[in-house]
Amino acid sequence: MTEEMFTRSRSYLERARQVIPRGVNSARRAALRPTPLAFVQASGSRITDADGNEYVDYVAGYGPMLLGHQPPSVVNAVRDQLTAGVLFGGQHEAEAELAERIIRLVPSAELVLLSVTGSEAVQAALRLARAATGRRAIVKFEGHYHGWLDPVTANGPGSPVGSGPAPRPVVVPDYSVAGPEVMVCPWDDTRALASLLERHGSGIAAVIMEPVAVNGGNLFASDGYLAEARRLCDQYGCLLVFDEVVTGFRVALGGAQQRLGVVPDLTVLAKALGSGFPISAVAGRAGVMRIAEGPVSHAGTYNGNALSVAAANATLDVLEAKQDVVYPLLERLSGELAAGVNECADRHGAPLRAARAGAIIRLHWNAPDPVRGYADVLAGRTEPLGKLSESMLRNGVHARESGLWYVSAAHTDEDVARTLAAVDRALTEVAR
Ligand code: PMP
Repeated sequence: MTEEMFTRSRSYLERARQVIPRGVNSARRAALRPTPLAFVQASGSRITDADGNEYVDYVAGYGPMLLGHQPPSVVNAVRDQLTAGVLFGGQHEAEAELAERIIRLVPSAELVLLSVTGSEAVQAALRLARAATGRRAIVKFEGHYHGWLDPVTANGPGSPVGSGPAPRPVVVPDYSVAGPEVMVCPWDDTRALASLLERHGSGIAAVIMEPVAVNGGNLFASDGYLAEARRLCDQYGCLLVFDEVVTGFRVALGGAQQRLGVVPDLTVLAKALGSGFPISAVAGRAGVMRIAEGPVSHAGTYNGNALSVAAANATLDVLEAKQDVVYPLLERLSGELAAGVNECADRHGAPLRAARAGAIIRLHWNAPDPVRGYADVLAGRTEPLGKLSESMLRNGVHARESGLWYVSAAHTDEDVARTLAAVDRALTEVAR
């Protein structure tokens, strides 16, 4: 394969850079090597770039495409809705239908509010938590990501351990957006959370976490940690918020909370909910959610828009009706992929490990094996993973340079075989 492979993507990027900073509309997309790609078509597990190269796709739109690209029943539902109306600026029956579905499927959901992006729904959840408790401070965890909006950007993925605002006394509320009211705590460390809450608990509105630390290395917590976090939040009167933007409907139909058996006060959902159509939700305890009937403003021109709601209803319809097929399939395919990557790494003597949480795989290079915490994740090297994904791209597999792969129900055994062959070739190249 030669550089000719990406001619059109490269020339697209050159044009785009004249009018769009870096030529991309979401910063991380700029990181793809050897060049950010432009795409023309996607279907099932495959995606085709502007040069006509077809890839097995694990970027999956950064996670939403749990059913693969263009799932027929979702496409049909949206097409039908398109003829009836896109945006009413008022209510329509499918919104309540969707909320009823979410309440049926997600253990913590008693009431639901719809938004458009994950970042926004996180803000809605935190605002509700502040109003419910009359407190200001928020606890987040090292390496966890909750969207790009100001208040929760401290110490996201890739930040060194201990950086960002250290735990500190709660300041007098000034209603500014960012910073001092967000405390960063190591995750999966019961003592650290207990001591933070002991010192500052009376000022803390919410403890927000990814219940599986997907952005923090794709790690499960140690046995009992989530239950202990739940207990500590109750003890100090803080709300526990699970950011299930990635894990919702993906690691189980009812999300990580169902899989791991711990129920938060509020849950944020997005990505897989809409099969690529922009939709998110905050769901949770009725007593907290009802605050949105009073002082807490929840607004948005596109909230509950008819196309996204149609897509979400059709998506959940498929997931619910076919759960006995979809989830075992996702587990089997992603299990085979992760095991295959690890076996291939052993054969090459490469310090590569695939950590798996349901249909999410995260590669670690030169990290302690097994990777147990965020410090282990940071001990790994990212550069070889970039080379690996670049080589895989040249061999027909589209995966993020960070090594975070999303498996879909449209992937096949043939895709797995093709992926593992590409990993094998890539490891030969990286070794050179
Ligand atoms: N929370 C988590 C756990 C995420 O991974 C993301 C996005 N990757 C977000 C929130 C933000 O979602 P969005 O990009 O839709 O704003």
